[in-house]
Amino acid sequence: MADDLGHRATRHAVVIGGSLAGLLAARVLAEHAERVTVVERDRYPEGPEARPGVPQGRHLHVLITGGQQAFDALLPGFTDELRELGAPKVGMPEDMVQWQSGKWFSRTPATAHYYSGARPQLEWLVRKRVFADPRVELIEGHETVGLTGDSSRVRGVRLRERGAGSEKETRVLEADLVVDASGRSTKAADWLAGIGAEAPHEETIDTGLAYGTRVYRAPAQPLDSDAVGYFIVPDPGQEYGGVVLPVGDGTHLVTLSGLRGNEPPTDEGAFEEYAKRLPHPVISDWLATAEGVSPVYGFRATSNVRRRYDRPGRRPAGFLATGDALCAFNPIYGQGMAVAALSAVALREALADPKRTPTTRRVQGALLDASRQAWDISTGADKKMPGALGDAATPGALDKAVEWYMGRVQQRAAGDPVVGAPFRRALTLTAPLTTLFAPAVAKAVLFGPVPETPAEPPLRRDA
Ligand SMILES: Cc1cc2nc3c(=O)[nH]c(=O)nc-3n(C[C@H](O)[C@H](O)[C@H](O)COP(=O)(O)OP(=O)(O)OC[C@H]3O[C@@H](n4cnc5c(N)ncnc54)[C@H](O)[C@@H]3O)c2cc1C
Repeated sequence: MADDLGHRATRHAVVIGGSLAGLLAARVLAEHAERVTVVERDRYPEGPEARPGVPQGRHLHVLITGGQQAFDALLPGFTDELRELGAPKVGMPEDMVQWQSGKWFSRTPATAHYYSGARPQLEWLVRKRVFADPRVELIEGHETVGLTGDSSRVRGVRLRERGAGSEKETRVLEADLVVDASGRSTKAADWLAGIGAEAPHEETIDTGLAYGTRVYRAPAQPLDSDAVGYFIVPDPGQEYGGVVLPVGDGTHLVTLSGLRGNEPPTDEGAFEEYAKRLPHPVISDWLATAEGVSPVYGFRATSNVRRRYDRPGRRPAGFLATGDALCAFNPIYGQGMAVAALSAVALREALADPKRTPTTRRVQGALLDASRQAWDISTGADKKMPGALGDAATPGALDKAVEWYMGRVQQRAAGDPVVGAPFRRALTLTAPLTTLFAPAVAKAVLFGPVPETPAEPPLRRDA
């Protein structure tokens, strides 16, 4: 059988994992395959609730502009629905009190926006839209435990009912395309070995960053501020992070973060004490006005991991990886959901390419390309963090020059919109990183003065 994943050559596609990357891939595959089945190990909750297979769902998730555009391209009107459900739209830098690299950002008019609604709500909305398509079926409460076929071609997946015990028989679901969207802890390496194929090399950078998140209820305008949220960004000289953002149901999520050895505690009193380690008391002051209404949830698996399916190896036709299963990021940069959606857009474009046969290798290459900028941003910043481990943390030939230039970008981004606007476009994945080297930006970065920025947190827009 020829290796052609498009042109209606796929009869049955199976997607492993029914979270954002899997659901959006299924949405696209429904346009190309006769039938698509999503296999999800959880049983979905009825409504927009957290579930065990997505433990990060209790933590703060922002949907950046590049992600919004991709969600809208895949599910027209998606961000309107999100807003109608109450997800707050936050303008940057106008609506935030933000500290980064020793400076408070001036609250100049917004040039980028993100949504800060709850992660379970966003996934629930996607679920409803994707499963409304009769070409997409669901097998829930079942775990994929292996592949069938051989190292030249995948023929299906082996499933086991969740909670059935390892002695329970597996069942085979035949497919001519299998997409791994089972997240950062994917077992694809074992599944590939099981059919005599080779696992991809895993590149990693791990700063040991850990999250602690708690839900709070706060008065309408705490601290006499008109800011929507607060963000203290960690950097190589200051490892602690703190974010306060509303999620649209009258509550706020507060996330504190620290590196290996200084992880935030999950004890409620100690959590608020830990906030005092931040370089400014503004988040502690905010916490003093608010009431904690949940336990503190911890999360530690935050390394950047990229699986290099693009490199040579004995791997089967008809097997693709997407989302976190392909490339997972340090979450502090807020990119994973956006990349899941940008990858589904890339999948759609690669499968419909009229000029080139969409072979497994080409389509997998397109999926990797969709994650490249986010990877460069995330690993570029993490390389500089103290104690970063992993093979992708090794300094490259150009790192010193890039670091010098980016240092100057950051000094100016907080107060000069000529630098700040393209900086935010690149970070929110709506413009390439080369935007930061465009003539007008480079002129301001190389020769412009370092602009004045507020000496104290700008609690009000007109401060
Ligand atoms: C703490 C934290 C904060 C984050 N904050 C942000 C943010 O602000 N903005 C942002 O854009 N992104 C953020 N992310 C990233 C984001 O959560 C993910 O990128 C996004 O959920 C897409 O992931 P995914 O669909 O690839 O995998 P996941 O969401 O991890 O889902 C994997 C799915 O596969 C299922 N599964 C696993 N194994 C099997 C199996 N063997 N068989 C069947 N099903 C299986 C699981 O049950 C789950 O449903 C954050 C991540 C973390 C950890």
